[in-house]
Amino acid sequence: ANQYTKPFNDISNVLSELQSALACAERLFDVIDQVDEVETGHAKLNDSTIQGKVNFNKVAFSYVEHQPLIEDLTLSVKPGMRVAIVGPTGAGKSTLINLLMRFYDLNSGQILLDDQPTTDFTRESVRAQFGMVLQETWLKSGTIHDNIAYGYPNATRELVIEAAKAAHADHFIRQLPNGYDTLVTDGGDSLAQGQRQLLSIARIFVKVPHMLILDEATSSIDTRTEILIQEAFNSLMEGRTSFVIAHRLSTIQTADLILVMNQGKIIEQGNHHNLMQMKGFYYQMQQTRQSVD
Ligand code: ADP
Repeated sequence: ANQYTKPFNDISNVLSELQSALACAERLFDVIDQVDEVETGHAKLNDSTIQGKVNFNKVAFSYVEHQPLIEDLTLSVKPGMRVAIVGPTGAGKSTLINLLMRFYDLNSGQILLDDQPTTDFTRESVRAQFGMVLQETWLKSGTIHDNIAYGYPNATRELVIEAAKAAHADHFIRQLPNGYDTLVTDGGDSLAQGQRQLLSIARIFVKVPHMLILDEATSSIDTRTEILIQEAFNSLMEGRTSFVIAHRLSTIQTADLILVMNQGKIIEQGNHHNLMQMKGFYYQMQQTRQSVD
């Protein structure tokens, strides 16, 4: 690169690093944990007794001081509910998830897990309760096996294959040059986005947590893979509290609870039928939405 393009390349390198850092939940934990020295909670959540009840109680939050984004948000999710979060870009959908996962601290109010404030627990033990599939899934450099066994390095090949099968990932993995021993380049660039998502679902199947978070893809996944992802995630969601930042009509229509967000607020909530009858914002959204199904 010549002297004129070099600074630009540097910036785009930084940007892409930043993006992959942001895309990766595991790394995001590190980033946030570094800047945030104060760990308020000390207790560990007991995995075996978690029901999956989630409450937001008068939550207020702002990324930037004096620029409130979420004000007085109250929400009640029963164990096992499938929650779809919908709303325009910038509505606060990801922020809701970030707060639930304790990526940021609240300005005021509480988030409760089974009636206990999440601040009673370590950030790590809160996050360990959630299986996450993000739009951009980061993979570590290592083999496909290592990536599925992530967090459980002692997982046997048998268990890894079982998890991959459950996630509908086994088929494409077997077509790779070295199957489960195929090396993934850093970030997983050699794989398609949908394949990376299937791997992150397989990761969840290794040890299924009590709660799930899915950021549904908005684009660039072929229909076949999309269907596989949906099927795998549907079976994971069975009986588990799940939050889906939802774009597909089929996901939204089958949710137990749809949260309609706009400008940091939940402006409507209910199931598809209720919300259509209300003939409000959600109804308008459905009328004008560009179908992605
Ligand atoms: P959605 O997921 O619905 O698209 P977000 O929760 O990502 O919305 O964003 C809600 C608002 O907060 C937007 O105005 C966005 O620009 C802002 N925002 C998101 N993340 C940050 C951040 N890290 N710092 C400052 N503002 C942010």
